[in-house]
Amino acid sequence: PYDVLIVGGGPAGASAAIYAARKGIRTGIVADRFGGQVMDTLSIENFISVKETEGPKLVANLEQHVLSYDVDLMNSQKATKLSVDNGVEVTLENGAVLKSRSVILATGARWREMNVPGEQVYRGKGVAYCPHCDGPLFKGKKVAVIGGGNSGIEAAIDLAGIVEHVTVLEFAETLRADEVLQRKARSMGNIEIITQAMTTEVIGDGQRVTGLHYTDRATNESHLLSVAGIFVQIGLIPNTDWLKGDIELSQHGEIVIDSRGQTSLPGVFAAGDVTTVPYKQIIIAMGAGSTAALSAFDHLIRTPVS
Ligand code: FAD
Repeated sequence: PYDVLIVGGGPAGASAAIYAARKGIRTGIVADRFGGQVMDTLSIENFISVKETEGPKLVANLEQHVLSYDVDLMNSQKATKLSVDNGVEVTLENGAVLKSRSVILATGARWREMNVPGEQVYRGKGVAYCPHCDGPLFKGKKVAVIGGGNSGIEAAIDLAGIVEHVTVLEFAETLRADEVLQRKARSMGNIEIITQAMTTEVIGDGQRVTGLHYTDRATNESHLLSVAGIFVQIGLIPNTDWLKGDIELSQHGEIVIDSRGQTSLPGVFAAGDVTTVPYKQIIIAMGAGSTAALSAFDHLIRTPVS
């Protein structure tokens, strides 16, 4: 069996693998797609000490760093079941069962998409999901935020300090965001909020986003909104479908962890976007991965080998 088996090969999993392997313990990492969300990222400007890089480049560096240690990297393998009856066991889609003395879950998350024409075409070319990451790219421009929940209104307030103007489009009749956030947004001179707005299409000039079409659900009229950027804030979905019923999850489906990365199951730790950690960022996921690995090591030295 492994001493530490990591499920997930994004920044959290890669960092956990390096920290575990450096303890000289048997370390494995199973990843559906090594690199995770970073593979889909064009430009990264907030990975501290690296002024600017691109996702696939950072992933290549991560892989090189992981493989410089004695780590079993099982790429293109999906975990489908976790059980803790008999040590910790992770079942893969191909039927294999991996045994380990401890497990670190780092399966990440994905942004909920609008699923409208143009969204995929202009992803990374004006369609964005992370205001902390891409906000500064739209300095002095007009943007839209899709979604009037807490993350949408937080994004609007954040962006309003950088960009020229923000239009929030909310599908429902009222915003779902906390009252205090709504008040703050309404107090800012450059945020407009439109409710009952259903986004129907992202449009662009072939290179970049130039605007979007939305339907006013009250009148059924279609409108054109000219914007350079569209921040989609309709939810982040943690990749925990395969864990439901086996481990404590939050109401949003995130794995509940404490400050050491411990989950509700003994010997099982978690890190990164899949967890209840506030703020989902590369540097935060890496820090969390190292925390989980050190906690797993601490668990191992206190647990007799059976
Ligand atoms: P992920 O990166 O999501 O990795 C999850 C890993 O788990 C993957 O390897 C996946 O294949 C694997 N996995 C999932 N389910 C299973 C399973 N059942 N079995 C096996 N493996 C599984 N952050 C920044 O800091 N700066 C940025 O500029 C930035 N830009 C972004 C741009 C985009 C378009 C997106 C989508 C995100 C961006 N982020 C950015 C956020 C950042 O990418 C995430 O916070 C970070 O990747 C989270 O790392 P993670 O390791 O927790 O999860």
